[in-house]
Amino acid sequence: MSAQRLADVGEFGFLSHLLPQLSASDPCVRIGVGDDAAVVDVDAPLVLTTDALVAGTHFQPGWLSPYQIGRRAYLVNASDIAAMGARPRWCLVSLGAPHDTAERDLLRLMLGVRDAAAEHDATVIGGNVTLSPVLFVSLTLLGTAAAQPIARSGGNVGDRLYVSGELGGAATAVRALLAGTPIGARSRARRAYAEPPARVQLGARLAASGVVSAMIDISDGLLQDLEHICDLSRVGARLDIDNVPVFAPGSRRPSAAAIEQALRGGEDYELLFTVPPAKASRVEQIGSEVGCRLTQIGILTQEHGIVAADGRRLGAAGAAGGYDHYRRGRSRRRAPGRELGKDGRHGS
Ligand SMILES: [Mg+2]
Repeated sequence: MSAQRLADVGEFGFLSHLLPQLSASDPCVRIGVGDDAAVVDVDAPLVLTTDALVAGTHFQPGWLSPYQIGRRAYLVNASDIAAMGARPRWCLVSLGAPHDTAERDLLRLMLGVRDAAAEHDATVIGGNVTLSPVLFVSLTLLGTAAAQPIARSGGNVGDRLYVSGELGGAATAVRALLAGTPIGARSRARRAYAEPPARVQLGARLAASGVVSAMIDISDGLLQDLEHICDLSRVGARLDIDNVPVFAPGSRRPSAAAIEQALRGGEDYELLFTVPPAKASRVEQIGSEVGCRLTQIGILTQEHGIVAADGRRLGAAGAAGGYDHYRRGRSRRRAPGRELGKDGRHGS
């Protein structure tokens, strides 16, 4: 790969170096990268999502390598597809970069997208590159659902609430990065941030098993995303905070700050889902089949709002004092735009 800048090689020079590295061997792709548009044969319900990573909004210089930016751009989208119980198949990538961007960095970013997608048997089928004052990557991911897709709205009173993995690791890393506190590139927290888990296999298995009534991936924090399920399912929830799997390095007892990050930090990209009580016994088995920790953390209730086991109200919007500093910090890297049309307040 060359050390040239985009201004030296130009858009078409860049594409001539990139496209040979993106050839896909997917029989459903009739026309892939390099034409005016891609053409695929769709064999199941199509599940579509899009999300962008913008330098200065979602990450700061030095937080992620170009390759990690590409991987992360893919994985946060794959997490949304997983949350529907579907599998990622094809992606379109829109890149923006300043003229003085090293061509090598942009190629590495795209190889990050390609490699992360390949791990789910998904392929890059098109995209574009444009001059931009800041680096961004906007990815549109198309998936297909083998089973009935799982919406946020299907929860019922009495359903058990489960979460995959552990929560708060990515927020721990972001908090340290924002504060300038040293945090090793290979630390568990840093990896939790750089490499979202995107529980594709789990999501598809849960959907196929028919045990799940509602599901969401945790991007905005457990309480916020639980509130989305509750709003759309028209229920409330009781959350057993002591059971929430909190990220805590080593075997240390989680600190109050770690618990707050697990509840409100966000960027975990774990799955939060609800299961009717008669089917709850199957969840543990599914977790061991796919090799993923699944924890029961609460129950859906008739009374609206989210409460702790002791009856204390848990507001999602940062009502608990002491966390405002982090939410201010967070707003610097996350634009206010949410997932339009998915949370019931912005259209469909
Ligand atoms: Mg989501």
